[in-house]
Amino acid sequence: MAISPERLDRFARHIVLPEIGGVGQAALADAHIAIVGLGGIGSPALQYLAGAGVGHLTLIDDDQVSVSNLQRQTIYTARDIGHGKAVAARRWLANFDARLDVTIHDDRLTRENAAALIGAARLVLDGTDNFATRLAVSDACVALGVPLLSAAVGRFQGQVGAFAGHLPDQPCYRCFVGDAFDATDCDTCAEDGVLGAMVGWVGSFAAMQAVRVVLEGKAAFGEPGWGALHLLDGLKPGMRTLRIAQDASCRACAVAAQ
Ligand SMILES: [Zn+2]
Repeated sequence: MAISPERLDRFARHIVLPEIGGVGQAALADAHIAIVGLGGIGSPALQYLAGAGVGHLTLIDDDQVSVSNLQRQTIYTARDIGHGKAVAARRWLANFDARLDVTIHDDRLTRENAAALIGAARLVLDGTDNFATRLAVSDACVALGVPLLSAAVGRFQGQVGAFAGHLPDQPCYRCFVGDAFDATDCDTCAEDGVLGAMVGWVGSFAAMQAVRVVLEGKAAFGEPGWGALHLLDGLKPGMRTLRIAQDASCRACAVAAQ
């Protein structure tokens, strides 16, 4: 697919990178990524994915912008307070790049609606703040055959994991956290506090990993690293990587493979 002169200009700094190039840019334009949770992680992730020219975005959040969000949720301004986050995010995107195809869902993702909300995407980036939703997203991704980038922050500890639980022998997010958290629905930000730049680091790193997934097999930007969980330590600061093994009794991915 040819890239128009206007788009060539817009993405010139990508296209000169050998790790992206024109082929990679075309792959980004074709990509469809769903972002679940338009908060402190989802906001910068959305900005960098839109900036990268990801052509199709599905945005899911049922929350409204409040004044306490502005400290870290970078797409919102004071005039968005009281408005739905999904609507405000679409407004930001419309101003930023009218060529992007954007679908919004002003809904909370649940086990019941997950397939309808994320089923069209080829990659899901989850930046929600509670285990119940994260597990529902993960289980839906396994069932739908869609890879998942799961990103989270607790105080100064961040994590970004890439999961392809629908593939043989690959772990899913549930293999990592187990079944104990399905019933919990805690927003720890309000209780624990959170530093804006910390969630921004995690969100922008998740966006970079999403670009890596999109470019797999099309440009030499490395491997998606399925089953790798990157731990971002904001106090040290530093980063390390764990390998998540598939849980042979996982009720999402192990059962799906049988
Ligand atoms: Zn699993």
